[in-house]
Amino acid sequence: MNGKRDGAVVLLSGGLDSSVLAYSLAADGLDVTGLFVHYGQRHSREGQSADLIAKKLGVPLFTIDLAAAGVGAILARSSLVGGDVPLETAASTYAGMRTHFVPNRNVIFLSLAYAAAVTVGASVVAIAVSGIDAPTPDCRPEFMRAFEAMETLALSTSGGIRLAVPFLDADKAAIVKRGQSLGVPFADTWSCFAGQQLHCGVCLACDERRTAFEQSGITDPTAYAAGR
Ligand SMILES: [Zn+2]
Repeated sequence: MNGKRDGAVVLLSGGLDSSVLAYSLAADGLDVTGLFVHYGQRHSREGQSADLIAKKLGVPLFTIDLAAAGVGAILARSSLVGGDVPLETAASTYAGMRTHFVPNRNVIFLSLAYAAAVTVGASVVAIAVSGIDAPTPDCRPEFMRAFEAMETLALSTSGGIRLAVPFLDADKAAIVKRGQSLGVPFADTWSCFAGQQLHCGVCLACDERRTAFEQSGITDPTAYAAGR
């Protein structure tokens, strides 16, 4: 042992899952570095939550502004980026719409996180994809395995950086319970897609957040603009 702790770069969106992941890896003894990306999302408010969570956890945060570089224009068919594409609700999603898919988002984010990991000397890149994300192709196990293998080739001189996806088989209620046990300040996290100053209460992300708290039995501290 040389006394140096292993490091992890965590994609920290300021949401429930990624905040719990950052706290969880820190509790495991890893030196955590957060990474947040502005990509033209209408809910850029989540960046404030990423900042808050990083500060409360006491870890550094890289904030990358791809929106200023114009990336929103090439992602605008997603309802999270294009202003005229309707947001998904639980009902529309169950009817088969997946407008919130952002093409190549995880490829872009993970590429940046791997570059950051080389820079800070981290041996792990971590992403808080969970079981509820399975309909999205770049959230599936086969994508994660392929991406890690690709990075092994891309960074062959850097000694191997593991891609950790520890919540892949977890449901959101289990993640809330884990966060509660770690003291994650849930009220500082942000899930809503709608881009307002309060959680809207009706978009898909709000619905999943509410359901996670309900199923976990833990009180939801979120102020929602509208009831279900
Ligand atoms: Zn919402």
